[in-house]
Amino acid sequence: MKFDANCIFCKIVAGQVPCTKLYEDEDVLAFLDINPVTYGHTLVISKEHYSTFLSTPKAIMNKVMNVAQRIGQVQIEQLGAKGVNILINSYEAAGQVVPHFHVHVIPRYTAKDGFRLEFKELKDVNLPKVAEEIKDNL
Ligand code: 5GP
Ligand code: ZN
Repeated sequence: MKFDANCIFCKIVAGQVPCTKLYEDEDVLAFLDINPVTYGHTLVISKEHYSTFLSTPKAIMNKVMNVAQRIGQVQIEQLGAKGVNILINSYEAAGQVVPHFHVHVIPRYTAKDGFRLEFKELKDVNLPKVAEEIKDNL
């Protein structure tokens, strides 16, 4: 199993750094974010060290997403959340601070509960051109 001795999440997996654990299996660990943005903010991670979602093998990525879905369901059923944001930051430019694949499962109570994702419209984009750049390489 890939382990990075300098990685805070690898240290959590190894039990060298404590966490508030919610779930664990062979490949996946879920625990509460130490700086929650809402009540119940959870991180679901692969136990093995992969630096981003984009570089994680599909089988592991799928297992992590399965657990993230279940955590979101329980946040609604048990915490009284009215919604859930699933967020994966990949690379620094996207706001990733810890370079170990993790999924944020953020329960939402109201639109003004302290967490906000802002979608600002990018003007004058040639959509067919963008589509060409992407779709031929999928
Ligand atoms: P990123 O910006 O990389 O997507 O998010 C990293 C998240 O990890 C942050 O929300 C931060 O609060 C959380 N985090 C960083 N270090 C620790 C830690 O030692 N323990 C826990 N439970 N969460 C951490
Ligand atoms: Zn790691």
